[in-house]
Amino acid sequence: MRKGVIVKVAGPLVVADQMQDARMFDVVRVSEKGLIGEIIEIHSQRAFIQVYEDTLGIGPGEPVESTGLPLSVELAPGLIESIYDGIQRPLDIIYERTGDYITRGITVPPIDRGRKWAFKPHKKEGDRVEGGDIIGSVQETVVVEHRIMVPISIKGTIREIREGEFTVEEIICRVETPDGMRDISMLQKWPVRKPRPYKKKLPPEEPLVTGQRVIDMLFPVAKGGTACVPGPFGSGKTVIQHQLAKWADAEIIVYVGCGERGNEMTDVLIELPQLKDPKTGETLMRRTVLIANTSNMPVAAREASVYTGITLAEYFRDMGYSVALQADSTSRWAEAMREISGRLEEMPGEEGYPAYLGTRIAEFYERSGKVICMGSDNRVGALTTIGSISPPGGDLSDPVVQSTLRVVKVFWSLEDRLAFQRHFPAISWLNSYSLYHDNLEEHMKKHVTEEFPEQRKEAMRLLQQEAELLEIARLVGMDSLSISDRLVLETTRSIREDFLHQNAFHEIDTYTSSEKNYLLLNLILQLHHLCEGMLEKVIPFQKIQGLRVREEIARAKYIPEDQLDQLREIEAHIRSEAEEVLREEGESNA
Ligand code: ADP
Repeated sequence: MRKGVIVKVAGPLVVADQMQDARMFDVVRVSEKGLIGEIIEIHSQRAFIQVYEDTLGIGPGEPVESTGLPLSVELAPGLIESIYDGIQRPLDIIYERTGDYITRGITVPPIDRGRKWAFKPHKKEGDRVEGGDIIGSVQETVVVEHRIMVPISIKGTIREIREGEFTVEEIICRVETPDGMRDISMLQKWPVRKPRPYKKKLPPEEPLVTGQRVIDMLFPVAKGGTACVPGPFGSGKTVIQHQLAKWADAEIIVYVGCGERGNEMTDVLIELPQLKDPKTGETLMRRTVLIANTSNMPVAAREASVYTGITLAEYFRDMGYSVALQADSTSRWAEAMREISGRLEEMPGEEGYPAYLGTRIAEFYERSGKVICMGSDNRVGALTTIGSISPPGGDLSDPVVQSTLRVVKVFWSLEDRLAFQRHFPAISWLNSYSLYHDNLEEHMKKHVTEEFPEQRKEAMRLLQQEAELLEIARLVGMDSLSISDRLVLETTRSIREDFLHQNAFHEIDTYTSSEKNYLLLNLILQLHHLCEGMLEKVIPFQKIQGLRVREEIARAKYIPEDQLDQLREIEAHIRSEAEEVLREEGESNA
């Protein structure tokens, strides 16, 4: 292919002429240094290229060569436990070779070409296969079985399939197709900007249990769903992301970190690999792929990183796994879009973001879902996407927040007011929402309890009532509230402190199963109902407030998962103490 010539360099944007052979989204090599870039706009012979590496010292007259291929990721065993940059360069290997700063133009394959993997066939000679069928597997880490799939374009009969140790490029299977024999290795490529296909999208009816009470009970996300968590600084965004990575009911985690300042990313790079996976006792990295943009990488690489991440996540979804993609934070991605758009001199939209910001965000979240995967076995995979957003000053009218809220179905609103009060997780129960309640109702009724939906509604109603009562009390004083209003406040205090508040660093409190979640809230609501009955029988409020069982309820969240019977005992105590009070009161009245 003929080489083009640079005519202008503007930060991460390079303009080149004589590019008549190039196509949109082709990857190009810029200058003799071979910097990696991608064509994002073409006007006749002129190509506009976003460059993923520092363009310092590059100038007009230098050559540009198109590779003729779109920006793609490599898919094969070896992905798990890797730490990549936005264009899937393995940071750990580059670090070993070149030290702290990535040498420009360096090419290191994302997947190790020399490493051998023990391939175990699941199919045999003579079997008919189509794109997406699993032909065998590799034990990639102690916890992840990497399933090798037939590339989408291949359909035919297996003529040869091998067992043993192979590198990712060696041929493991030969398929006879109408167009001739096709060789299959464990390595596949996929262009990042093109969603991987599936057979059918399924309705999201199963919750992604996260073990976090406020999420699972009040604002649940479905497997295959989408959620966003705007987080002002210090509101507990990182802790929530870690809790989700650790506890969410997903087999694979893809974590995309786009940090602005260097230290934000270092936290993730250092802390995440150290987290222990409670389910397996191994480190969390055994089922995680990490994509990191450190501060010395140009903005354009951030733009690519969310696509790299979601493509890897789709690939694991296609194997039939439940995958959670965590993008932290998408604001940095949007800022990268804004910068490139500015350099292209496009007409700016709100706050200088490009007019297509909303479309890009929507396209990204739409790649999640619970699906029937390609292939003939109708396996189901799910990709759940959770994006955090860091709007300047925590301002929710920010265009990135607004565009995201238009597409995601769950909104966990972190409030610094709650974080100041040390109420963690600082997810506001008044502003947050989940649109999955109706979808998940049947599942919760069947697998947890029939009463789940009613219980949730009652808790929400009480919490909303609390906000109104506190407002009245603020205006005209606490004395203006009736006794039954005071009871509501007593109950909601308990909901907040004994139920919603959850300490991520407490051995037991850090995770709550759906069953325990229900039992805990049930205690608080049962007590509330009994107290309402007592008020009707004119039992003095102080007595109701001073019930001994309130202490037991306050400690109930620390009861281990294997001793949930204790929660049922507390329920019995609630009843016996209420009866006792009624009896005493009856006696003193007699
Ligand atoms: P952000 O990433 O939003 O700046 P962090 O996630 O680092 O905030 O949280 C700030 C601090 O808040 C943490 O260091 C921790 O002490 C506290 N914190 C946040 N969430 C929890 C939680 N669920 N349980 C206990 N402490 C928490």
